Amino acid sequence: MQITFIYRATILLLLTTSGFLYLPAQALELPSARVETRIAPGAEEMARPTQVVVLGTGTPIPDAHRAGPSIAIIHKGEAYLFDVGAGAIRNATIARYRYDIPALYPSQICCLFLSHLHSDHTMDIAELAYTLWWRRRAGLKVWGPKNSNKLIEGLTLMMSTDTDIREGGNQPLPNPNGYLVANTRIKEGIIFEKDDLTIEAFLVNHGDVKPAYGFRVNTADKSIVISGDTAYSDVLAEKARNVDLLFHEVISEQGLSKNTPFWQNYHNRAHTSSLSLAGLANKSKPKLLVLYHGLFYGTREEEVLQEVRSVYDGEVVLAQDLDIY
Ligand SMILES: [Zn+2]
Ligand SMILES: [Zn+2]
Repeated sequence: MQITFIYRATILLLLTTSGFLYLPAQALELPSARVETRIAPGAEEMARPTQVVVLGTGTPIPDAHRAGPSIAIIHKGEAYLFDVGAGAIRNATIARYRYDIPALYPSQICCLFLSHLHSDHTMDIAELAYTLWWRRRAGLKVWGPKNSNKLIEGLTLMMSTDTDIREGGNQPLPNPNGYLVANTRIKEGIIFEKDDLTIEAFLVNHGDVKPAYGFRVNTADKSIVISGDTAYSDVLAEKARNVDLLFHEVISEQGLSKNTPFWQNYHNRAHTSSLSLAGLANKSKPKLLVLYHGLFYGTREEEVLQEVRSVYDGEVVLAQDLDIY
C-alpha cells in the first residue's frame, strides 16, 4: 500500500514537473472534499455587495477552458444561477473557495433560472440538483420556460434509482426531500422578488426556440442584464439601457463568414454577430459589456473583441470562466 502510494506520487510529480499534466497551483491550494451544511447565510454574507461570478462561458462546442454557459449572482448569501451548462457546477465549487462564497457550494445553491432549454444551457442540472441532495437545506428551485417541467420529470426519473436506494437503505438522510426539484414556469415580467432583489424575464429572438428569455436583475447596488441566446433584440437593447453589467452572447463576424450559407443563415436568425452586438451596445450604453457564449469558429478570441471595438468604444471585455464582478 505504502509503496503503491509512493509510486503514484512519484509518477504524478514527474508528470507535473515535466509539463505532461497541467495542475494549476491554485487548484492544489483549495480545500477539498469538505462537507458543508450551512443552515442560513451568516451576517457577513448578508452585508456583502452583490457579486457576479461567471461559472461558464462556453457553447455546445467542447472546450477545455470553458464550461457551458452559466452566470451566478450572489445576493444576501444566496446564489441565483442563470443557465447551467456542462461543467458549471465544478466551477461553482472552485469559486466557492477561491472567492470565499459559501452560497456557491453546490448543495447550497438555491435557485436556477433557465433562459431556454437548449442542452448547452441545461446539461449540469443533475449535478446541481443531486450533488449531496440529502444535505440540501431545500430542494433546488427552478424557473424555466414551457416544457421545463418535462426536463425536471425526466431528471427525477433518471435519478430515481439513486434516490430509492438512499431512501430505502440505512444511509442517514438529514433532508429526505432534498432531491425534490420545484419548477415554476416563466412568463414575461417580474418573476422573482426578495428584499431589494428583483428578477425580470423578457422575450428574446433565438430563431425557432420559442420562448427564449433574457433576464434583468436589479439589486440595491447593481443592475445586470443576461442575454441568454439571442439574435439582435430591440427589447434587450431597451432593458440593457445604462445597465451596470451586460452579459451578451456573441458570434464572430469573421468566424461566421467561414460557415456554409446554411449555417450562416441559421446563426443569423439565432445569434448576435460581433458587429450587431456593437450596434446594440451603442444604443444601450452599458457601463461594462461582457461577452460570453462566444462562437468563434477559428477566429482568435482577441479578434472578436476587436470586431466589437471597431464600432463600439465603450468598455468591453471577453469573459473567462471564474471571472468575478
Ligand atoms: Zn447556447
Ligand atoms: Zn440556444
